[in-house]
Amino acid sequence: MKTELKQYTIRDITQDFQYNELEGKGLYGLGGKLVIQPEYQRNYIYNDGKKDVAVIESLLQEYPLGLIYFAVGKDSAGDAILEVLDGQQRITSIGRYVTNKFAIPTSAGEQYFSSLPQDKQDLILDTKLLVYICDGTETEIKEWFQTINISGEPLNAQELRNAIYSGPFVTAARAEFSSSRDPRQQRWGTYINANPVRQGVLELALKWIAAKQDTTIDGYMSQHRHDTDVAELKSYFNAVIDWAEARFPLEPVPKEMRGLNWQQFYAQWGTDAYNGNATVQRVEELYADPAVRTKKNIFEYILSGEEKTQLLDIRLFEDSTKRAVYAQQTEQAKTDGVSNCPDCAAATKGDVKTKIHPYKDMEADHVTAWSKGGNSTADNCEMLCVRHNRAKGNK
Ligand SMILES: [Zn+2]
Repeated sequence: MKTELKQYTIRDITQDFQYNELEGKGLYGLGGKLVIQPEYQRNYIYNDGKKDVAVIESLLQEYPLGLIYFAVGKDSAGDAILEVLDGQQRITSIGRYVTNKFAIPTSAGEQYFSSLPQDKQDLILDTKLLVYICDGTETEIKEWFQTINISGEPLNAQELRNAIYSGPFVTAARAEFSSSRDPRQQRWGTYINANPVRQGVLELALKWIAAKQDTTIDGYMSQHRHDTDVAELKSYFNAVIDWAEARFPLEPVPKEMRGLNWQQFYAQWGTDAYNGNATVQRVEELYADPAVRTKKNIFEYILSGEEKTQLLDIRLFEDSTKRAVYAQQTEQAKTDGVSNCPDCAAATKGDVKTKIHPYKDMEADHVTAWSKGGNSTADNCEMLCVRHNRAKGNK
């Protein structure tokens, strides 16, 4: 791989700058000869009113912006172009500023580029950026890209995979899953917890199809790298979301439904018959039950046939309830000359039959299990010695 150090003025770099608001990415500069966001780059994440402003303030204070890297590439017509390898966030911030897309706070109030005094505008446009231009094979450039990227915000796992498996599949997959302006994101976001811009939605869609096919995200991406469409990925993702929505048709969708492992639920119970209205009623009952402490597991609990009550982390007895029941049970046991643990008292022989256990050696048990309608109140509480309570197990 050959590298060459060059200087470009911001005036050159931002010539014919184009920014795609919809997809949140800078597209072209250098009069169309610079591709600001090649397909393996992540979306623009500096537009937070802080990092983008900091870039402009650095220019005005004549602080260095750091090295920028371009790679030599070819456009679809085979003509030589440059692609931004590292520096995309900085260049996009500058390009957006000089095209009046955002303002910076100054002592004279908010200032757009066009409202800056001429000398400040020139200061920005004449600033020279130091650029390394790299000419090498696709593999060399990608490997190097992974190395240099440690300087800025590191790429997350999916952003790296997009770089490694870049091609028509990644382009199509990003178009489908990675735009934060896509109105479908709002609906998806009620069931999944992922950031489209940082490729989280795409990562989840890939994770789901990979789980279904018993492979990994890398395995799936490498196998489909040259596909030009993402029909299978899209259809499975939508099938899972559509099922989640139909299976639990709650309005509004409770926040606890967000981020559950819907793919796993779908794989396990997706073909079971169900009644949407009855399900809604049951969810509402469980939400209203103060004994249910882990609301987010209500959905899995229902799907799994309401057997695994431990999923719901049922509220146990209050300390005061246990002490009151212990005192009452112990007093009665002493009067009767038997153990204060009813199971010990029922023993046929030995000194356990009359053993009075201290409070610390006893545990509370639901006489009628919660799953059968029993409450965590004194009238449904029985104190058992540790050994006998554990022997009864979870119920
Ligand atoms: Zn006992």
